[in-house]
Amino acid sequence: MEIGANNMALAVTNLGAEIKARTELRVNQHTPEAVVSDIIANSKELLREAGLTPEMLLGVGVNVPGLVDSEGGIVEKAVNLGWESVPLRELLQPHFGVPVAVIDKGDGGALGEKLFGVGQGCSDFIFITIGTGIGAGVMYRDVLFTGARNAAGEFGHISVDPSGRRCLCGNVGCLEHYCSAQAIVRMVQENCPPGSILAGREDLTAYDVYLAALENDAFAAQVFDQVGTVLGKACVTLIHLFNPRKLVFGGGVSQAGDLLLAPIRKAVKEFAMASSRYDVEVVQAGLGPDSGLVGAAALVIDDFLSTF
Ligand SMILES: [Zn+2]
Repeated sequence: MEIGANNMALAVTNLGAEIKARTELRVNQHTPEAVVSDIIANSKELLREAGLTPEMLLGVGVNVPGLVDSEGGIVEKAVNLGWESVPLRELLQPHFGVPVAVIDKGDGGALGEKLFGVGQGCSDFIFITIGTGIGAGVMYRDVLFTGARNAAGEFGHISVDPSGRRCLCGNVGCLEHYCSAQAIVRMVQENCPPGSILAGREDLTAYDVYLAALENDAFAAQVFDQVGTVLGKACVTLIHLFNPRKLVFGGGVSQAGDLLLAPIRKAVKEFAMASSRYDVEVVQAGLGPDSGLVGAAALVIDDFLSTF
């Protein structure tokens, strides 16, 4: 399962991490108790639809945005959910009766892409997820680079504007305030010219901005160009730090494809040092928006297979 600030996705997969049944729901209440209760109710329904019983499950993998202590199954901090020190495994395990593995969104996506997506056969790549927030998972020599306290990969919270607005994480000018789905909507609301087809639109989403760009709305295309350029410059920092072979983009906003990736490639080409940008590929996730879901399943499958 994948928990987000606005939506949640639950899926049943086989041992090859192929999704056999899935459901998506809105996250209306963010308290851990409300989210867990939604998970329990919808899991039962999903298993019934898939013709399975809870006893047939090998395990449950959960993908969560933010800082996660995977060993303890604890969500240390998820700013977009308002969670701090939530013992998610402890809350879920009694309801399922099988092992529950918890991983952060960036790492989960990187694992999914490594085992089943465009990261297959690639020892060094960085998965970047762009949705309500921004996160990253660093695959370094075939192993997830998690840092001293599992806090590595908080790409959305590097500062790209030292005089920018204060973020809930404590830093100022964080990348995700300029490049997330929410940022795209805010940019349109603040700067939309009367000539754009987005002018005066209410309940706007980043997907609407994408559709407008596809309809050749110049302002919508310019928003994606601006977002891609800021992201690209931030990616140059990642390239200089880790010298990856690939930058793999997942999450909802990345579904915009070349509208977003073209300005990223341009910024990388223009600003990264020659030796480190050599051979860096900027690509869309092979698993589309499902990298995180598949990664959560992969965590369980990997654990299970390693017992043989
Ligand atoms: Zn931040």
